[in-house]
Amino acid sequence: MASPAAADAVKSAAPVADNTGADDIARRLARIRIVLINTTHPGNIGATARAMKVMGLSALHLVTPKIYPHADATARASGADDLLQHAQVHGNLESALQGCRLVLGTSARLRSLPLPVIDARRAAGQALVESQVGEPGARDVAVLFGRERYGLTNEEMQRCHFLVNIPANPDYSSLNIAQAVQIIAYELRVAALGIADISIEPADWHPVDGVEMERFFEHLEQTMLDLRFLNPRQPKRLMARLRRLFNRARPDQNEINILRGILKAAQEAREDAEKRP
Ligand code: SAH
Repeated sequence: MASPAAADAVKSAAPVADNTGADDIARRLARIRIVLINTTHPGNIGATARAMKVMGLSALHLVTPKIYPHADATARASGADDLLQHAQVHGNLESALQGCRLVLGTSARLRSLPLPVIDARRAAGQALVESQVGEPGARDVAVLFGRERYGLTNEEMQRCHFLVNIPANPDYSSLNIAQAVQIIAYELRVAALGIADISIEPADWHPVDGVEMERFFEHLEQTMLDLRFLNPRQPKRLMARLRRLFNRARPDQNEINILRGILKAAQEAREDAEKRP
């Protein structure tokens, strides 16, 4: 028979279990945005909303959809039209990524300048852990989906920390976009169910968001131009490689401040040297 103390422990554990149950799963999944870029077929947008809603995802962001809103989108959403109504439409990717610290780009194929590639399962685990870290309003995770015809551009991929691949038949690896969203959404839900009752300690490391990273990259590029390290007529892939390096490191605010301090000092030293006779 259980001791009275054990019975008390069970009783006091109950509210905690409730807090980390369905509500917690919904709260975590609400922090994960699905971003569709430049989608051609409105039916795919509706089918995406449905794929999301069945797995408990709710934040749909559309970057320059070709035709939207449209009756085909509503028809294919079949009951998930609330997600469509709340979908945010953006004029550019930058705006859709506001407030995101982790950006995952899904891709059917792996390119010549590969970013770190992880599979859908690992990506979901990472997204779930990160959607918990940081201050409110600044800890969303974005998962990007490319155009039906040619996926994400290289520039868009450079905004990502990881590329996510759904391991498929290597001879026929490209899924319909809404089906790709379905698989990712399912993995996110499974990951959320798996960690719902494990409390993850907040890390004391909060990578800066994309806006801050872009400011840093601009400063870096300008400094390299000033120092004549970067030749604007022959930039090659220098910035792409440096972006990859720093996105792998994912600096926090302190680290960004140090890096930008170094850039500023280098710029000032160059100006001083130019002033000297
Ligand atoms: N022909 C395009 C495929 C576009 S499919 C290309 O080669 O990139 C439309 C979108 O669905 C892709 O941009 C990606 O976001 C997603 N997708 C399709 N198949 C995928 C796969 N195997 N792994 C990850 N994402 C995939």
